[in-house]
This record gives sequence, structure tokens and C-alpha cells, in this order.
Amino acid sequence: MSITPSLLKKYARLIVRTGANVQPGQVVQLTVSVEQSAFAALIIEECYQAGAKKVNVEWTFDTQRRLNFQYAEQETLAQVLPWEEEKLRQMTKDLPCRIYIASDDPDAMRGIDPQKLSNVSRQRAAVVKPYRDMIDGRHQWVIAAYPSEKWAKKCFPDDPDAVGRLWDAILRTVRVSEDKDPVAEWKKHTDFIEKKAAWLNAQGFSSLRYKSLNGTDFTVELIPGAKWEGAGAINTENGAFYIPNMPTEEIFTSPLAGRCEGTLVAVKPLSWNSQLIEDFSITFKNGRAVSCRAKKGQELLEQMIRMDDGAAMLGEVALVPKESPVNQCGFLFYETLFDENACCHVALGAGFKEVLPGGDDLTVEQAHARGINDSIIHVDFMVGADDLSIDGIRPDGTAVPVFRGGTWA
Ligand code: ZN
Repeated sequence: MSITPSLLKKYARLIVRTGANVQPGQVVQLTVSVEQSAFAALIIEECYQAGAKKVNVEWTFDTQRRLNFQYAEQETLAQVLPWEEEKLRQMTKDLPCRIYIASDDPDAMRGIDPQKLSNVSRQRAAVVKPYRDMIDGRHQWVIAAYPSEKWAKKCFPDDPDAVGRLWDAILRTVRVSEDKDPVAEWKKHTDFIEKKAAWLNAQGFSSLRYKSLNGTDFTVELIPGAKWEGAGAINTENGAFYIPNMPTEEIFTSPLAGRCEGTLVAVKPLSWNSQLIEDFSITFKNGRAVSCRAKKGQELLEQMIRMDDGAAMLGEVALVPKESPVNQCGFLFYETLFDENACCHVALGAGFKEVLPGGDDLTVEQAHARGINDSIIHVDFMVGADDLSIDGIRPDGTAVPVFRGGTWA
């Protein structure tokens, strides 16, 4: 299989209709690389066909971003100018449907001082995050991918048809093919995920216990009444069902911040700020990462955990069976959108307030008070070993098998 105009059209349509589920009269904000302008055109047209009122495009260019970090001062880059803030304020009124197309070179920022990168993102987040929090749960959004040359070369350095191979993998994971209707395929897929999430919610587990031969031995407490979610979400403003990530395989919740114990051993490398952290494990005490060990990227991992107060605590636990098509592809995508859908994972940093009953209406502070972690980072890492066992523990102490051998028990 390789990419054809008809597959591209199917894919664009899937992103707009099933992913973002653009509604008549909505403003759409498309964020896409200048290098993907032809695909952007397909998306824009599809949005208008779905009834969009206006499509605005925010063009990104990873080479520019790199050069900015290479030459401009940290203070300059960290500044959010008044017009940028005004744009964010407008976003809280328009509540645009947002579509992101990920295609960046995973190595775009290689060699840039990671401290500069994290300082800039921390300072900008202080201004930008409150606006983002204001629209959380109140608009539809989706992230999907488009394989750029550099990204494909990173995945398959020696293959002259790297882009073709990455296309094949992406289309497989987003269930787009010539002979099947991707919309129907996604319906089946999301129904399965929702059935599993409903089962987990009915169990009312108070904690999860992870065990694997690789050294993972870990218990995490869950927030009483917090929901397991997966696949889709509902925009509380208009009731539209949308799928924020394409692909998506996970069922996730936010655990009780500051309540976990033990060691998690990563089963895949983690790409953070264009650098790899490999063969690592993190040990938690009283809910906080107190030590970590990495064969490669030790300093980077330590820096990540120190980003802010919440960066050492968990914001997400997610269940993904090892049969996931992303895992079946058998290579590292260097892109969280894919890599986090390979197997079970947890995330350090911010949690999701929408998993709390009535959570969409809570402020970040209120959600925090109810156990949802808050941080400027949200970094997923994979712990889904092929032999991973997870037990769900009921409030009375009974253990129920949830995962065995890396998949649903
Ligand atoms: Zn996740």
C-alpha cells in the first residue's frame, strides 16, 4: 500500500468529520506546517464542506523555530506579546474547533540547549495556560499526523522509501484503507474502547497494582468516582462528539496526585525536547518521583522531573493492549501521538480534570484540590511490557485481574 490521492482524501475527511467533527457554523483553527500546504488545502476544503463558517490557518515551520532558538535571546522568545494574548482571548470567545497536523522533524531542536527550551516553554505557559484552561472541554480538537521527509528518515534512516513506509504505518494505525470505510472502522473501534471503559468504571477500583519481570512493581491510587475515558470526548458547549487523537488506543484516567509507590520500568525510549531517554526507570515514594535511572539521558530525565512542582507526580494512567496496531508496527515513531498508543503508559505532569464528575466546570485549582495533578508538562512513558500484569483493587481489598501478559485479562 502506498499513499494515493483517494487515500489522502479519505484521510482528510476522517480527520475533519470523525476526528474534529466540525459542525455547521463553527470557526476552525488549523495548525499545520508550511511544508504540508497541499494537505492543508484538502483539510480546509473538507471543513467548508462540513459547514465551517471560517477556517483560519496557523502555519508552523520547524526550521524557523530552530533558528529562533539558535539566535534569539531567551527573554525575547519567552515573551508573549499583547497581540498574541489578544488572539488567545479571542479564542476563548470563538471557541474554534482546532485541528493540528503533526509532521515535525523529531530532530528539529537537536543541539539546542534544553534549559533554554524548557525555560521558554515554562515562561510562555505562565501566560498561555490560563487561556487554554478556559477553553478546556468547551471546544472540539484533534491531532493527526502527516509524514514529512525528515520525520520518515528519522524512523527509517536507510530506506529510500522512508516516507512511503511511514505513510503505510500511519494509515494502518488510523484505519484508513482503499477497501474499507474508515468511518465505520472507527465506529467499531470506539465502541470497543467505550465498552472497556464502561467495564472499568463499573468496577470502581480504588487502586491499580502493576507487576512485570523487568522490575516494574508499582501501586497507584485512583480518585474515587473519577471516570476512565477513551476514544472520544464531548464538547460541553454543543454536545459534539470528537476524537482528540488519531490514532487512539488508550483508556485513561487521572490518578490521585501524590499517591503512588514503587518502581516503573520503561519499555520504550522516551523522546523529549528532541532528545532520547533510554532504558530508564523511575521510583516513586509518597506519590513523587524520588529517583530515576537512565542508561541514556539521565540528566534530561532529572531535568524533566524538576520542571515544576507537579512534574514529579503522575497525571495519567492509561491502558493499551499490546496488540495495538501502533505496537504491531514495531518501530519508534518519535512522536507521542503514536508512541503513547503502543502499550500501557503513565504520564508525569498535568492530569485531566474532565475525568472528575462535573470536572469540565471546575477551575484548575478546584480540580487540583480534588486530586488532579497540575504541571506545565505532560510526558507519557511506556510501561506495557509483554508480560505486564495489572490488578484492579476494590475498596474492600479484593484484587481483580485487569491485564495479563500485556493485554486485557
Ligand atoms: Zn495517554
